Amino acid sequence: MENLRIDLRSDTVTEPTPAMRRAMAEAEVGDDVYGEDPTVRRLEETAAQILGKEAGLFVSSGTMGNLAALLAHTQPGQEVILDANSHIFYYEAGGLARIAGLMPRPIETEKGCITAQQLRQAVRSRDIHFPPPALFCLENTHNRAGGAVLPQDEVEAVVECARELGLRTHLDGARLMNAAVFQNQPPARLAQPFDSVMLCLSKGLAAPVGSVLVGSAEFIAQARRARKILGGGMRQAGVLAAAGLIALTEMPKRLGEDHARARRLAEGLRSIAGLAVKGEVQTNMVIVEVTAEGWDAARLVQAWRSAGILTNAISPQAVRLVTHYQITDENVDRVIAVTERMMAQAG
Ligand SMILES: *Cc1c(COP(=O)(O)O)cnc(C)c1O
Repeated sequence: MENLRIDLRSDTVTEPTPAMRRAMAEAEVGDDVYGEDPTVRRLEETAAQILGKEAGLFVSSGTMGNLAALLAHTQPGQEVILDANSHIFYYEAGGLARIAGLMPRPIETEKGCITAQQLRQAVRSRDIHFPPPALFCLENTHNRAGGAVLPQDEVEAVVECARELGLRTHLDGARLMNAAVFQNQPPARLAQPFDSVMLCLSKGLAAPVGSVLVGSAEFIAQARRARKILGGGMRQAGVLAAAGLIALTEMPKRLGEDHARARRLAEGLRSIAGLAVKGEVQTNMVIVEVTAEGWDAARLVQAWRSAGILTNAISPQAVRLVTHYQITDENVDRVIAVTERMMAQAG
């Protein structure tokens, strides 16, 4: 077996494209903390325009973008209502409590979309006993739900409800471009209901570093201050923003290929005894559940690793595989063939 490495752990493993590297080398720069980096400004304006908001902010990661949004929307001691499997609650090292001083109110959902009814039940009266509810968050596509796209009519209904209840609203749109491609809708349409949206440039869009946060000019001014507090004021960041501009404007076009490969991978793996593929594959993620006797997610990850295939376990029985621009049709076929052999031998 040749020494092949097929990295399906995440779309974050994507390396900058040759066009990005050229743009980075040639980027016009300045000191962005003084607001003088023309490339960063262009990225922020472009992001705001594409997502249909007034202003944008370049941040070093999705985690920083979400946290800056929490800080800008709330005061310490307030309550944030979000899905129990959301990235902000599950994977951001508790920054919402540790740094923003917020009380999380996690809600269990089917596939990441809190319903208007659940939200109404969760929001308590402004009683002295309760932390004041301030912010409502959703995530699209939903990471732990396997790249699931939130139904836009449900999103609109629940965000409308949040607004009626006096809450601000934030969308963790790390992979909003994948949702837009799946729904064949402009990203601004999916972003429209929310006060703020965070989008990652460094996932399937392949930029080496960075995310953008968008919202009203007033909100972005607050978030810019929050970014400074978090140590995220960068200087000649135009070298990064140059790659980000290509990520934002050129890379979304090809995300459909990743989705097609994920579906093909899912179909192949679904037919193998001892494995089950969870739900419908809508975007670039496949969640495989191990049902074979004596197997669990850790063993499956290890067996794949020995064959040069890298994946991540996301629970004791489930493994996540993510397609991206460095994964080819041949890679997909190879993963299926290797897995068939592996599971047959395990018998
Ligand atoms: C990756 C991710 C983030 C955070 O992005 P980082 O750049 O890794 O900090 C936030 N939300 C979701 C849904 C993600 O998948």
